[in-house]
Amino acid sequence: MNEVIEKKDFIRDIIDEDIKNGKHKKIKTRFPPEPNGYLHIGHAKSICLNFGISQEYQNATCNLRFDDTNPEKEEMEYIDSIKEDVKWLGFDWGENLFHASCYFDKLHKFAVYLIEQGKAYVDNLSFEEIREYRGTLTKAGKNSPYRDRSIEENLNLFEEMRNGNVEEGKCVLRAKIDMKSPNLNMRDPVIYRVKKSDHPKTGDKWCIYPMYDFTHGYSDAIEGITHSLCTLEFEDHRPLYDWFLDQLPAEWFPSRPRQIEFSRLELTYTIMSKRMLIQLVKENHVSGWNDPRMVTISGFRRRGYTPKSIREFMKGVGISKSKGYVEFSNLEYYIRQELNATSPRVMAVIDPLKVVITNYPEDKVEEFDVEINPEDKSSGTRKVPFCREIYIEKSDFMEEPSKKFFRLRPDGEVRLKNAYFIKCEEIIKDNKGNIIELRCSYDPLSKGGNSPDGRKVKGTLHWVSVKHGKKIEVREYDRLFKTEFPGKETGNFLDDINSESLTIKKHCIIEPAFFDYNKNTRYQFMRNGYYYPDPFDSTKEKPVFNQIVKLKDTWQNVKK
Ligand code: ATP
Ligand code: MG
Repeated sequence: MNEVIEKKDFIRDIIDEDIKNGKHKKIKTRFPPEPNGYLHIGHAKSICLNFGISQEYQNATCNLRFDDTNPEKEEMEYIDSIKEDVKWLGFDWGENLFHASCYFDKLHKFAVYLIEQGKAYVDNLSFEEIREYRGTLTKAGKNSPYRDRSIEENLNLFEEMRNGNVEEGKCVLRAKIDMKSPNLNMRDPVIYRVKKSDHPKTGDKWCIYPMYDFTHGYSDAIEGITHSLCTLEFEDHRPLYDWFLDQLPAEWFPSRPRQIEFSRLELTYTIMSKRMLIQLVKENHVSGWNDPRMVTISGFRRRGYTPKSIREFMKGVGISKSKGYVEFSNLEYYIRQELNATSPRVMAVIDPLKVVITNYPEDKVEEFDVEINPEDKSSGTRKVPFCREIYIEKSDFMEEPSKKFFRLRPDGEVRLKNAYFIKCEEIIKDNKGNIIELRCSYDPLSKGGNSPDGRKVKGTLHWVSVKHGKKIEVREYDRLFKTEFPGKETGNFLDDINSESLTIKKHCIIEPAFFDYNKNTRYQFMRNGYYYPDPFDSTKEKPVFNQIVKLKDTWQNVKK
C-alpha cells in the first residue's frame, strides 16, 4: 500500500493517544493573545498549531481568546488587528471568540472562594516590599506580616478594594501558597490588584483586575480547553495553574486542561518581543506596526508574503521542545518557492539607463509574445512592445568592465530578453561625466533573442520600451537589523538597526503588461525579485511596489 505516513509532532501524538484512550471525544484548543500589541511571526507558530489542530481532528474547535487583564496596555486597535491577522493566516474561530474579561465575575467569585478557604489574603506591602520579600532563586522568600489575617478581615478588605475604597498600590490580594517554594511563581503570587482604569470591554465596572496567571489558567478551564498549548517559558507556571485548579471544586469546570509546552519560534536578524516591537513603532524607527520590514503579521502581509508561505514555513519548522534560532532565509525560501510557481513575470527596470537603437526604424513598434510564467504553462502569454528607445538597468552596463562582467560593455554584444541582440556603439555623457545614454545597433536577424549564425552572447538583459513603459516607485528592503542576534553585543537591540534597510527608488519603469492583472498580484520582476503593490500607497496612477524578496538568497554572500 502506498500510504503517506504523515510526520506528526509530540503534541499531536499526545492528542492521538488521548483520543484513542477515550479521554476526549472533542479536542478543544485556544490561541490566547494579550491585546497589547500586534501579532508577530512567532505568534503565527502558535496560531498554526492551535488552529491547525482544530482543522485536523474531527469535531475539534479552537477558541480565539483575548487574555485582556491589563486595561492600561490594551486597545481596541490591537484586538481588531489580531482578528484580522488570524483570519488572513487562513483560520476561523467561528463562534468561538472570547475575552478573559467576560470571566471577571467568575474570577472574582473564585478569589472570594479562595479567601473563604484560607487560601488567599489581602497584603498591604508595597510592590517593592513584595518583590523584596519574595527572595530569589537562591534565597527563600519570607512571609508577609499580613499573611495571617483572619478570613473575615480578608473578605472585608477585598470588598473594600472592589468597591473602590482603596488606592492603587495600597494593597493586593495574594494566593497563600509557599514563600519557600523553589519555584518563584509559587511564592504567594499576587492575584488581584487595584487599577482605577476603564477596560476596553468592561468599561468602568471594575477597579480591581485579576493578574494574568490567575486569569489564564482558569480561563482555559472555564472554556473546557482540553489541551492548553503554550511556549516553554510557561513550564514554571504550570504548577501554579494546577494549584489554582486544585483549590476549587472540579465540577465548576467542564474540563481540566492539560498544559503542554513547546519551544518558541526565534528568527535570526530580528527581535520578536512585543515590548521591543512597540519601541520600534513609538520611536519611529519604522513607519508603523505594518512597516514591511517588521516581523509582524501585518508587516509581512503588506510586504506581499502569502499566508500559505507562512503556514508552509511553520510546517517546515515543526513543533518540539528544543530551543534554537531558525534562519530568516529559511522563511524567504518558502515565499520564493511559492511565488516562483505562481507569479507572472514582467520586466521592470529599477535604475533606468536609456538605450537608443540607432539602426531601428524610428516609428516602428514590434510586439513579442512572451510567456507569463514559464513554470505554469496554463498562464499563457503577454505582449511585450519593443521600439527604438528602451531602458536597461544602469548596472547592466560598465564602461570599464572587469573580466567577469558579461553584460553590456563598449563594443560588446548582449541579448535583450525575447527581443534582439544589441551591440554598444557609443556612450553619451552629461557635462559631469555621468553616462546618460547608450547608442547601440541591433541585429535584425536575431529576432526573439535567437542567435542568427551560432554566435554566442553571454549576457541576457531585461529591458522596457521607453514609449510604452510606465513609471513606478519601488521600495527595496533589507534586514531591519545588521546582526544575527540584535543587541547581543551591545545590550541594546536599537544599536544594531540597519540604517540601509529601506531604499526607495522613485523612477523605475515597468512594462505595460502588469496592468492586465489585479492589484493583488505578486510579480516576478525578471532577474530581480518578487514585488507586490503596496496595499496602502499604491494607486493606478502612481503604482508603488514593495520588494517581497530577492530572486536569490544574496544575503549569505553580502554578509562577509
Ligand atoms: P512576546 O513575548 O513576544 O511579547 P507574548 O508571549 O507576551 O509575546 P501573547 O499575546 O501572550 O504574547 O501570546 C499569545 C500566544 O502566542 C501565547 O500562547 C504564546 O505562547 C504564543 N507565542 C508568543 N510568542 C511566540 C513565539 N515566538 N513562538 C511561538 N509562540 C509564541
Ligand atoms: Mg505574554
